Amino acid sequence: MRFFMHGLGDQSKEQTLAGLETMGFSGVVTGFDPEVLDLASRYHLEAFVFTHAYTANTAVVDETCLAEDVYGSKQLWFNSACPNHPAVQQQHLDNIRTWAGAKGAAGIYVDGARFASPCSSADMRAFFTCFCSHCQSAALKWGYNFSRMRRDVTVLLESITGKRATPSLQNLSWGGGDLVSVLLRLPGVFDWLAFRSQSIEAHMQDARRVLRQVNPTAALAMYIFSPSLAPWVGQDYQALQPHVDIFAPMIYRSLQAGEGPACLHKEVGRIGQWLVENGVLSEPAAVEFLRTLTGLPIDPATTLDHLDKGLPPTAVAVETSKAKNLLGPKNLLIPIIQLADEALDESVKAVAASEADGVNFFLYEDGCVDVLTTALRGMPKGL
Ligand SMILES: [Zn+2]
Repeated sequence: MRFFMHGLGDQSKEQTLAGLETMGFSGVVTGFDPEVLDLASRYHLEAFVFTHAYTANTAVVDETCLAEDVYGSKQLWFNSACPNHPAVQQQHLDNIRTWAGAKGAAGIYVDGARFASPCSSADMRAFFTCFCSHCQSAALKWGYNFSRMRRDVTVLLESITGKRATPSLQNLSWGGGDLVSVLLRLPGVFDWLAFRSQSIEAHMQDARRVLRQVNPTAALAMYIFSPSLAPWVGQDYQALQPHVDIFAPMIYRSLQAGEGPACLHKEVGRIGQWLVENGVLSEPAAVEFLRTLTGLPIDPATTLDHLDKGLPPTAVAVETSKAKNLLGPKNLLIPIIQLADEALDESVKAVAASEADGVNFFLYEDGCVDVLTTALRGMPKGL
């Protein structure tokens, strides 16, 4: 099992790296930091640099580059812009070129290579993006019916907000077949999801090409949504397999941080809130629908308030097994789980038992050595 750490905390980097080596860690993932790249090899650690794929609010990415919702309003999501905007993509590729080529870099961890999720913005319309001119051009080039896509995604949004009556939505809680019925009535929604996936795949293909140009031995890793959420944000594990060396599903089961993007309980719970607050489904029906939609171990008797607090450690096992089934032995599977987990031992064991190649931890905190040492006791360590 490989153990990776995301972030290094505020204390001496050298001390932290030495401590990680002592605990049997194999690698660290940080923002670009030449000091860490230089020091890591001394402690037999691989050093990876993480990038934020579609960062907004930079010198080259301004408001004109933001994603557009179905009504043409600009939407900032996860501090990100439109995934198909050429300047946004180029900015990311330039960062990869610079950082992957730096001395000591073992590879790049790409974060945020996706479209908006339910928890990527307080404004739910951000999820129902992107319909900007750059996305229109890409969609037409790939053969999608862009106007049908926009029409049906609008219907879906307005059905969820209660502006339109879509009777088939009332049946969602009865099972997967009813979700298929909704997609059959709204084929543009299916196109939208496929278009999202194709967009992300194309960008990761570019990312790999640039990475290998500057550093032929570097690995391309991806912080990716958990399998139960990934299809909604444009992350298709199997389509990404040829381009990504290390898959790192973000399996956060009870993290309490801001809006909670990528957190299983927050993302899933947000969908439930939309349906209940707009009168589409009753709360018990919404909980039942979320169980059907995700396959997660959600207690049928739970409430959305309770779901917001977290899911049991078995959720970590479910999501790791799903990722392993999708990937097989071709790619390294190293899920990232929350370090601040009162059941950290159970969560680490759940990842290991699901045939993953390692565990990554989010986020290093000073003083975490004791809890980590306990959680990793008895685990095989190394590459
Ligand atoms: Zn766009």
